[in-house]
Amino acid sequence: MAETPEIELVDGNRIPQLGFGVFLVPPAETGKAVAAALEVGYRHIDTAQMYGNEAGVAEGIAASGVPRSEVFITSKLNNAFHEPDDAREAFDRTLFALDTDYIDLFLIHWPLPTRYGGDFVSTWKVLEEFAADGRARSIGVSNFLIDHLQRLEAEADVKPAVNQIEHHPYLTNRELADHCQANGIAVESWSPLAKAEALDDPVIAAIAEEVDRTPAQVILRWHCELGYIFIPKSVNPQRMAENADVFDFSLTSEQVEAISALDRGEEGRTGPHPATFDWLG
Ligand code: NDP
Repeated sequence: MAETPEIELVDGNRIPQLGFGVFLVPPAETGKAVAAALEVGYRHIDTAQMYGNEAGVAEGIAASGVPRSEVFITSKLNNAFHEPDDAREAFDRTLFALDTDYIDLFLIHWPLPTRYGGDFVSTWKVLEEFAADGRARSIGVSNFLIDHLQRLEAEADVKPAVNQIEHHPYLTNRELADHCQANGIAVESWSPLAKAEALDDPVIAAIAEEVDRTPAQVILRWHCELGYIFIPKSVNPQRMAENADVFDFSLTSEQVEAISALDRGEEGRTGPHPATFDWLG
C-alpha cells in the first residue's frame, strides 16, 4: 500500500489523510479491529466518548506493537459534557481510557445550538485550555455549520483545526466544505462511503471500471482529490486494506465532477441535522 499523505493543519500539526473510524464497533471488538487496521498500515484512529470504545482503541494500539507516538488519535467530547467542568472531567477520562497523556486531536462532537443556551463558545474555550497545556495537540469541531464557525471566529482565540462533517457522494455539503477550506479549517469526511449506500451507485460502478478499482476505492479517492481527510470504517481486514489502498491512482476532473454531481442535498443526509440535533445520551 502506498504511504498515506499527511495534511498540514492551521496549527502546524500534521494529520494522516486516511483514518480508521470506529463508530459502532462494539467495545469488546475494538481492540482487535484497531490492531488489524494498524497491521494494514493505518496510523490514524477516529473514536469518540459517545462510541464507548476508547479503551478498546488503547488495547488495539498496545497489542499492535506500533508505538503510541506513531498513531494519530482523535476523540470527541460527548454531548452531555458541554458545561466547562464536565468537559474537563470528561477529557481526563478520555486520556485515561486511551492510556495516554496527550491526544492528537480533540473535537466538540456536535454544536447542540438548541442546548446549553446555545453556548458552545464556553465549551470551545475549555478545549483551548487543553491545547494550551499540550494535552490536546490540536483541537477542532464536528458537525459545525457556517454560522457556528463564524461565531467561534468572532468570539474565540483559537481557530478550529478541523471540522469533521458528514460528506459523501450523496451529501457533498459543498458550501460548508468550501467555507472551511477558505478559512484554513481542514475538512474531514465522516461516513465517507455514505454508510456503504453509495457503493452500488451506477455512476461509481462505471468509474470503478474505467480506473480498474473497486467502488469503495473510487469514492475514497474522490475525497482525496478534494483534499479532505476521510475515515472509513470496516471491521473486515480485507476491506480495511482495500480502503487504504487509494494513494497510487487518481481520478480525472471529469470523474471527480461526475461523483460530486450525485449530490442529493438534504435527501442524501444519513445522520441528524446539526442545527436541530439535541440528543444528550
Ligand atoms: P462509512 O461510510 O465508513 O461506511 C461503513 C460501512 O461500509 C460499514 O457497514 C462497512 O461494513 C461498510 N464498508 C466499509 N468498507 C467497505 C468496502 N470496501 N466494501 C464494502 N463495504 C464496506 O460509515 P460510518 O458511519 O462508519 O463512518 C465512518 C466513521 O466516521 C465512523 O466510524 C466515525 O469514526 C466517523 N463518524 C463521525 C460522526 C460524527 O458525528 N463526527 C458521525 C458518523 C461517523 P464492514 O464493517 O462490514 O466492512
